[in-house]
Amino acid sequence: MKVPLLDLQAQYQPILPQVRAAIDEVIAKNNYIMGYQVQELEEKMAKYLGIKYAIGCASGTDALVLSVKALGIGAGDEVITTPFTFFATASSIWRNGAKPRFVDIDPETFNLDAEKIEAAITPKTRAIMPVHLFGQACNMTRIMEIADKYNLKVIEDNAQGIGCTWEGKMSCSFGDIGILSFFPSKNLGAMGDGGMCLTNDEELAIKLRQLRAHGENPKYYHKWVGFNSRLDTIQAAVLNVKLDCLSQWSEGRRANAAFYNQQLASIKQVKTPYIHPSAVSVYNQYTIYCENRDGLINHLKEKEIGCAIYYPLPLHLQECFAELGYKVGDFPRAEKASKSVLSLPIYPELTDEQKSYIVEAIKEFYQG
Ligand SMILES: *Cc1c(COP(=O)(O)O)cnc(C)c1O
Repeated sequence: MKVPLLDLQAQYQPILPQVRAAIDEVIAKNNYIMGYQVQELEEKMAKYLGIKYAIGCASGTDALVLSVKALGIGAGDEVITTPFTFFATASSIWRNGAKPRFVDIDPETFNLDAEKIEAAITPKTRAIMPVHLFGQACNMTRIMEIADKYNLKVIEDNAQGIGCTWEGKMSCSFGDIGILSFFPSKNLGAMGDGGMCLTNDEELAIKLRQLRAHGENPKYYHKWVGFNSRLDTIQAAVLNVKLDCLSQWSEGRRANAAFYNQQLASIKQVKTPYIHPSAVSVYNQYTIYCENRDGLINHLKEKEIGCAIYYPLPLHLQECFAELGYKVGDFPRAEKASKSVLSLPIYPELTDEQKSYIVEAIKEFYQG
């Protein structure tokens, strides 16, 4: 048997006729830039998440860059975030001329530890950028309390968590702006790059809309130096079809996680993911702590089971951020996680046979 980490073939197979029809419609209309499908997706997504304004753009990374810029954060400013995340979280701050200021994670949830934020606030701090890592929402109650107390903006990096909730409320709806990524491996993936900003603030929505298209208002009159970062019509058309399946896919991911949780509980060398009682995860990744990670990876490779390390080097130790002055030992929990985490296949199309095969392979490795 062979189990890839993600099987997009299996995902597209049942919806291919609708996806093809949606793409054909774009070709028939030749409306490749800002066709009506973009607005359709924005309206559908705003409704799905219960947020007023949705602004499609070219990628999750661009959605973050646009958000930081729209909030007027730049040179001389600091944004508090987690070192245990995908690179774009911090690069979006850096690329606006501001500095990421990292705080360590909660080792249980892998998310930024809200109790460590206050100590990192300086007179330069302008915002907090929590990341709902692996599909589990951060403690948004605490983060919003702190943001209110210190008058800080909040940008939710929800690239991995579309549809996840904290205390029953949708991610992306707590902060000033929330962002999504439609990178193919995300829970709602396009057939290429795509992203979105979400906000309840009308002024911010207008500014984001202008910034994604050269800062124009009206056409050929530039209020800001903006970007060329629109969401392709073809991608929006595909996403419109796929968004209808998302809730069902999230259920499938949770069911797979429940199976692993139960089956792996007896293996003492493995720690299954902890989900906070206030959070409902959408499991973009199913990430375990494991002993002898290299050995397990090799064993899974032999069994043709896909797995991956998210993330092998925390951001405070990345060469490009050397001038921030961080060193090994600054964030021991993030560093420990980077040395012992492993993500297993969790996509909703996994069959029972595949799941059992994976569990058996892990048991075989640790228990012989
Ligand atoms: C994927 C991801 C991004 C970037 O999204 P792209 O669409 O790939 O640009 C940003 N932050 C996190 C946490 C991500 O996982």
